[in-house]
Amino acid sequence: MRHFAVVGSGPAGFYTAEALERAYGESARIDILDRYPVPYGLIRFGVAPDHQSLKAVAKRYDKVAESAGVDFIGNITIGRDVSVAELLDLYDAVILATGAPHDRKLGIPGEDLPGVVGSAEFVGWYNGHPDFADLDPPLGGPHAAVIGAGNVALDCARILSKTRHEFEGSDIVGHALEALDQSAIRTVTILGRRGPHQVAMTPKELGELGHLEAAVPLIEPADFPPQEADEALEPGLRKSVSLLRGFADLEATKAKQIVFDFFAKPVAIEGDGRAERIIVERTLLDDSGAARGTGETYAVPASLVVTAIGYSTSPIADVPFAGGKFVNEAGRIAERLYAVGWARRGPTGTIGTNRPDGYEVADQVAAAMVPGSDSDRAGAEGLKRLLAERGVMATDYDDWRKIEETETGQARPGSPREKFVRVEDWLRTLGR
Ligand SMILES: Cc1cc2nc3c(=O)[nH]c(=O)nc-3n(C[C@H](O)[C@H](O)[C@H](O)COP(=O)(O)OP(=O)(O)OC[C@H]3O[C@@H](n4cnc5c(N)ncnc54)[C@H](O)[C@@H]3O)c2cc1C
Repeated sequence: MRHFAVVGSGPAGFYTAEALERAYGESARIDILDRYPVPYGLIRFGVAPDHQSLKAVAKRYDKVAESAGVDFIGNITIGRDVSVAELLDLYDAVILATGAPHDRKLGIPGEDLPGVVGSAEFVGWYNGHPDFADLDPPLGGPHAAVIGAGNVALDCARILSKTRHEFEGSDIVGHALEALDQSAIRTVTILGRRGPHQVAMTPKELGELGHLEAAVPLIEPADFPPQEADEALEPGLRKSVSLLRGFADLEATKAKQIVFDFFAKPVAIEGDGRAERIIVERTLLDDSGAARGTGETYAVPASLVVTAIGYSTSPIADVPFAGGKFVNEAGRIAERLYAVGWARRGPTGTIGTNRPDGYEVADQVAAAMVPGSDSDRAGAEGLKRLLAERGVMATDYDDWRKIEETETGQARPGSPREKFVRVEDWLRTLGR
């Protein structure tokens, strides 16, 4: 029997567990560990609550968790409750699938002013992440801005612009729904340092902006290169640019506007004790395609500023770390220690991009420890003993199911579930 620990229960962790289970069958036990009592990482806390069809990928992960050789052990933080060295003693291989939960910083004056929030915080707030339940983003002013030119920026702008009615069928948490319903925001400006040809926004997410009940997307037609230049773009980006060109024909006919401001580099955030405006420098693209400041600046009013410019992984003691992720070669960090997903590659790609990662690392593990071979490591039994000695209240598969049933059972009308937003509430459900 072999014992494997997968640290992190987001897509990368689940695809890795699936691949290991397929490679080893009954000759291995795979434990998926997570710092929260419930699994799925960004599927639960990141993917937008109005994108329920995407969140349904979790059903595939459910099947993995139900496999005889796979267990979920929650409410345990690796690096705090148990070290990686201890896991390596207990397990034949340890695979870090801890994602990239921290917002990258802008590095400009004023970014620590109240009113400036990272997208991990803002997205976590509306998705019921326990760390951000008390964020209370300022929604009382008429202007908000989102800094970034990717899908996360679009998610934030869309959530800020939807009506209560448009959240029906979503699993947005109650506190965010109430606050957004009372929001005074009328303009959301999306700031991108480069132009429409350089966006990392996909057609589906852009297309949604064109069909909002109370908001209309607007773009300066002068921001576009000549239409012929679109021919050289890869098909997905060409479609995105075509949608953006369509927005340039629209007018401010609805109560709210989502304004795309391209070639706009934030250089400072200013305000009297809190964010009031972003000072933006106009840019031009140089020959290498990088944005170069022109020296021309202007102010964009915003009492809420959401930065959506990327994420970094949390370092864990004794694991080599550089550039916002674990140092690895094709997923291998050291003997018997691997990384997958955003912890391996950094914060790029879709949910599906994490699948080949997981399968590739599982292949490496299977090459190093042939399926059917044995070891005398203690695996889950040893881990549970250690956790009991340390008073760590780990949760298991049955606990998670009980939480899930409770959440689903108390769903608001029109919503698939009402998520708990505090770890204490999860544990109270379990009578602990
Ligand atoms: C706001 C947002 C929206 C997105 N929307 C989409 C979308 O619509 N479609 C799409 O295809 N992709 C989307 N993505 C991308 C997708 O979510 C990622 O590709 C994917 O979640 C990365 O998987 P992961 O397993 O590497 O990390 P994560 O999903 O972040 O999972 C990491 C897990 O590790 C756990 N963990 C972290 N540290 C520890 C520790 N020390 N000990 C124990 N456990 C730990 C965390 O609790 C978490 O469960 C979105 C991403 C974001 C940020």
